[in-house]
Amino acid sequence: MDEVLKTPQCKERLQRCPRRYVLGAVREIIEERRQTLREGRDADVSHDSIISDLDKRLARLMALSLRPVINATGVVVHTNLGRSALCARALDNIQSVARGYCTLEYDIEAGKRGKRYSHLVRLLRETTGAEDGIAVNNNAAAVLLCLAALARGKEVIVSRGELVEIGGSFRVPEVMAQSGAILREVGATNKTHLKDYEGAINENTALILKVHQSNFRIRGFTTDVSVAELAELGRRRGLPVMYDMGSGCLVDLKPHGILDEPSVADMVQQGADVVTFSGDKILGGPQAGIIVGKAKIIKALQGHPLLRAIRIDKLSLAALEPTLAEYADPWRAEQTVPTLRMLLEKPESIRARAERLAAAIKEAAPGVALEVVPDESYSGGGALPEHALPTFAVAIDIASPNGLEEALRKGNPAVIGRIKGDRLLLDARTIFEEEIATVANCIKQSIST
Ligand SMILES: *Cc1c(COP(=O)(O)O)cnc(C)c1O
Repeated sequence: MDEVLKTPQCKERLQRCPRRYVLGAVREIIEERRQTLREGRDADVSHDSIISDLDKRLARLMALSLRPVINATGVVVHTNLGRSALCARALDNIQSVARGYCTLEYDIEAGKRGKRYSHLVRLLRETTGAEDGIAVNNNAAAVLLCLAALARGKEVIVSRGELVEIGGSFRVPEVMAQSGAILREVGATNKTHLKDYEGAINENTALILKVHQSNFRIRGFTTDVSVAELAELGRRRGLPVMYDMGSGCLVDLKPHGILDEPSVADMVQQGADVVTFSGDKILGGPQAGIIVGKAKIIKALQGHPLLRAIRIDKLSLAALEPTLAEYADPWRAEQTVPTLRMLLEKPESIRARAERLAAAIKEAAPGVALEVVPDESYSGGGALPEHALPTFAVAIDIASPNGLEEALRKGNPAVIGRIKGDRLLLDARTIFEEEIATVANCIKQSIST
């Protein structure tokens, strides 16, 4: 052991790596070699072999668990893969804000304590048309806070068609119970009418809630009540109306042919008193829950004790403010916010990137059989569940597509593709231009091992 530790190679690694990692790994290696010899088998005890083994172990010990992957699934808002890639201004701002101190809760003008929630107000007003807004840790927290602040101990009317579970852990009835509000279900799973809401109103009603059904749709014989109709009812009966939008798009998608995902501004305009949505779904920013609406309601939220437990952190704020700023010009956001760009990218443009990827793979791994094929990708994140987006993918024909899928997934960097039939598909929608060479190289590596 001492002999190994005194070698220059080992000394160099002791400089570079935590001492206990090097000592532990060398001890294990020597013990394994001894065991092999004891069992009467051959063991390579050369320094070179030991150092090469040591490097493998050190690399494993020092690797970070949270690391980048290349998303070749075509699912743009992929919750398991971190949802949204941030825009360049957000990345730069995280660097500059987090490197030192910042104005998180400091008012530069007044030279005294300021408010964490002040930074986004102007941009939230501009991008949604709402009177005021606030951001918290995530949208689940936003919903919890609104229910606790507006309806604790009182009834909240929700359609039975909207008592959904989102992503396994967010269930509307359970969030409602956690907030202390009382769920008042109305209508049937497939149909809820305005008169159902109206009939459920009593002196203990505090709120009318509408929830985006997210990745769930009821088809056929269905009716639901629009935000505009609910807002009219709310005004008539003196009750606030809340809409949990989930994705929360800040641009008008109708010109892009997407008619079933209204913007936050549409909902505010239709009269919702409070709207909640995620920062990292279609909006394309960091994890956050955004609440916009009537000034009186946002003020009530700001005074609620729960807010402290779910407050937004400075890194998310540093990313969210510049992301919102991109939306000052919606056409600009469509270019610079990666999530929005990928969602709205034209099939011809995706096809061109798929062709470039195919060419790069052919060059790196000439033996591989592949072709560019049309396919469908999905937005993810609960938005547009039925809206298949036409896309193009590189389809790789190989004896064991599952073997290749696994090798790519376990490679460095990890490339996450999708099996379709007996081929591995790499959807070009979610592969960035600058990742093409890396993907080609990963395929070369995966095939040669
Ligand atoms: C995604 C979603 C949520 C949860 O949002 P998170 O940002 O994941 O906390 C809540 N409501 C709806 C309708 C959603 O789609």
